[in-house]
Amino acid sequence: TKAASPKEEQQSVTAEVQVQLGDRSYPIYIGHQILSHAHEILGPRIEGKRILIVTNEQVYDLQGQKLQQSLEKVAATVDVVTIPDGEEHKTIDTLSTLYDAAVEKNLERSSLIVALGGGIVGDIAGLLAATYMRGIPFIQIPTTLLAQVDSSVGGKVAVNHRKGKNLIGAFYQPQAVLIDSETLQTLPSREISAGYAEIIKTALLGDSELFGYLEKNSQAILQLEPDALRHTIAACCRIKAAVVSADEEEKGQRALLNLGHTFGHAIETLTHYQVYRHGEAVAIGLVAACRLAEKKNNLSSQVRERLIKLLYAANLPTQFPNFSRENWEKAFSLDKKVKSGKVIFIIPQSIGACQIHKDRDLTIALEVIEELSV
Ligand code: NAD
Ligand code: MG
Repeated sequence: TKAASPKEEQQSVTAEVQVQLGDRSYPIYIGHQILSHAHEILGPRIEGKRILIVTNEQVYDLQGQKLQQSLEKVAATVDVVTIPDGEEHKTIDTLSTLYDAAVEKNLERSSLIVALGGGIVGDIAGLLAATYMRGIPFIQIPTTLLAQVDSSVGGKVAVNHRKGKNLIGAFYQPQAVLIDSETLQTLPSREISAGYAEIIKTALLGDSELFGYLEKNSQAILQLEPDALRHTIAACCRIKAAVVSADEEEKGQRALLNLGHTFGHAIETLTHYQVYRHGEAVAIGLVAACRLAEKKNNLSSQVRERLIKLLYAANLPTQFPNFSRENWEKAFSLDKKVKSGKVIFIIPQSIGACQIHKDRDLTIALEVIEELSV
């Protein structure tokens, strides 16, 4: 791609989505090569502030300087703190080192936390912002496809406990989300595909037009073509924003975002989070959700066929790994979505429309897994 002139760069911040949550509403800015314009785009949210950028070393080396130099143009101070890479470091111990950094850098109630990185950085920096001095402002700058279409929007922030993922957390909305699709250029292709699985999920659960767009443009998206990315990221953020606006704290409809995730979590549990990226497990879960819907709701098998084509295009898996029925049963019972003995499955009614389904009896779900196992 040719280098854009500064003028073109600024013009490219056209797509913007608003998350409507009353006085906690916030914008999502989406563009290409906009990281070095963060100070112009974010304006008063950073002017004169003490800022702490939370990131990891890898992301800082690739993207950090651009952002830091931009923020330094208008902020009072800009400090950077890094956390180690990897899900095993999304812990209260790592969070504790961030509190130390915040205190050491004299962050105040009016200071700002900026999360620069993937979902791990976003979740932990968000929990820091939610709890330091009972809550200080925070901005998400997601740099993985998964974080740009999913985790940076909606205000769920958390760290893991040894006994389970995301057990310690809060609902805490950012002041803004800034998405620069150029940052994806350095992301490994497996991470792109994992994020793409959540995009397919979003289309299947809430946007048949997006689903059709993906069928026509998957190569452009996977090759990180800026216009295709902008269209896709904006569409996903719009859907997530609408769901979150209607049900911020997951008392009902927000559970729809878990399409494919009940099966996905079972896969991750049984493979100890070592074999599949989250998005890959979700990919298999989406196929299973469609098959379950065929059995329970007479969903046309064409939906599953179209879904599998999309997943193939991104090199995503579509079949379950082999485990015994007993193992799968155990994995489901561990799922935190087990509520009073029922497991929650989100099942498609058609492309773009899903419903929440609670089941005490896992017979049909287990049948689906058996059919779809390698
Ligand atoms: P991640 O944060 O681990 O990032 C994946 C890898 O890519 C890491 O090694 C990271 O260092 C690297 N990376 C990040 N940006 C890069 C870039 N631009 N170039 C090169 N490398 C880059 O993983 P993820 O998939 O982004 O996020 C997963 C986390 O998100 C999980 O902890 C999950 O629980 C959480 N999550 C949260 C929500 C939510 O609503 N809060 C939703 C979905 C997932
Ligand atoms: Mg997910």
